[in-house]
Amino acid sequence: MDYLNIRDKREKIRRGEISLFENVNYFQKRIESNKDLNAFNFLNKNLKEESFKIEKKIKEGKAGKLAGAVISIKDILSVKDIPMTCCSNILKDFIPIYTATAVQKLLDEDAIIIGKTNCDEFAMGSSNENSAFGEVKNPWDRERTPGGSSGGSAVSVAARFCDASLGSDTGGSIRQPAAFTGVFGLKPTYGRVSRYGLTAFASSFDSVGPFTNNVSDAALILEIISGKDEKDSTSEEVEEERFSENLESERKFKIGIPKEYFGEGLQTEIREKINSVIASIKSTGNELVEISLPHTEYSIATYYILTTAEASANLARYDGVRYGYRSAENKTLEEMYVNTRSESFGTEVKRRIMLGTYVLSAGYYDKYYDKAQRVRRLIKEDFDRAFEQVDLILAPTAPSTAFKLGEKISDPLQMYLSDVYTVSANLAGIPAMNIPIGFDGNGLPIGMQLMANLFNESEILQFAYFLENNFLDLHR
Ligand code: GLN
Repeated sequence: MDYLNIRDKREKIRRGEISLFENVNYFQKRIESNKDLNAFNFLNKNLKEESFKIEKKIKEGKAGKLAGAVISIKDILSVKDIPMTCCSNILKDFIPIYTATAVQKLLDEDAIIIGKTNCDEFAMGSSNENSAFGEVKNPWDRERTPGGSSGGSAVSVAARFCDASLGSDTGGSIRQPAAFTGVFGLKPTYGRVSRYGLTAFASSFDSVGPFTNNVSDAALILEIISGKDEKDSTSEEVEEERFSENLESERKFKIGIPKEYFGEGLQTEIREKINSVIASIKSTGNELVEISLPHTEYSIATYYILTTAEASANLARYDGVRYGYRSAENKTLEEMYVNTRSESFGTEVKRRIMLGTYVLSAGYYDKYYDKAQRVRRLIKEDFDRAFEQVDLILAPTAPSTAFKLGEKISDPLQMYLSDVYTVSANLAGIPAMNIPIGFDGNGLPIGMQLMANLFNESEILQFAYFLENNFLDLHR
């Protein structure tokens, strides 16, 4: 039952072959017996009522496109009347008064929200170890990280606690945890999905997207959450696409292999596995060419300058006045601000606020921030040139498979380097997806990334669907 995609599950519920309530129950039991994974911060308490209500709607033929789907939400997206903590002590008692547009769109199509998932504090991290709720464990090996920042979302899908999850990706937070846990994870084009109700980390990078167990569910969820939203001025007006109905395609693609993504530091087994996928692709009439993205080596530095700058401004709003936590005894207003922030932000968030404030400060603005903006443009132009030549770019998602919990936490630079293959897509605003392609010698999932030009998610999804149906022996 748990291997069905959302559409097939809905059809079986309609025909009375399976019950949504039992399916929800199955998920609840799995969550309960795997509590140590620590994937959820909060669980929905009305699951029974909701599943009966939606099951009835399905049978009456009145249900939305996501009826039957059980979806978890990263605890950085707001859902009205359910706590949203961003896994930070500064928001530990915060209850939002509105629902994020992307989540609302799921609800409007009759999805069931099963709960809010654990993540790195304010989505800053690559291992889910920076959470006020504690670390999340990887179901493939409980001594290892599930990746981050959307670790709980990835685990909720990989461990079959639900059908899908919504996460956010600022520099890889959907794709890298998807790679570490062996699921599909799609970061849409910047502006494709409304950011309204997504807690801002780095506003010109943040995007909302799905984690799923198959390509068809990713396509379905993307088509539902996409679209212009008057509440987010950076959301774009583009023609509505029915991704899930256009997955079958006879089209042959021209695929670029960026040489900079296969250099030193890439785990051998990942290189070998990707090479074997490339060899299979070659035999199918799709064309592969080597390409160059020459500014790749600057992507990590550029990303960490620009995102910390944006984060330092975005996080200024947590001052003890308007949201969540306030330090108890303060003599002056200034002291209240300082104590509130010092007592309740975690180490990584503080580090980023300090870095961001530094790169924006007088005297350093030109040297770091302004320069990084220029390099961002060069990185974008690398992709523009590449997409004149190819339809898709194929690369690893992460340089290694899941690393051990604790392994990198005391070395921020090492941690930041685990984002080396994912941050460029956010710098350029382009869509990118993790495809699980197999396992390494320790039985840990290996991920491969497909990138496309702006708003070309359909090409990624079509090609991913083709791979899924022809080559991927996922053993899951
Ligand atoms: N790991 C990256 C960071 O720490 C990306 C985070 C994200 O995409 N939210 O910034």
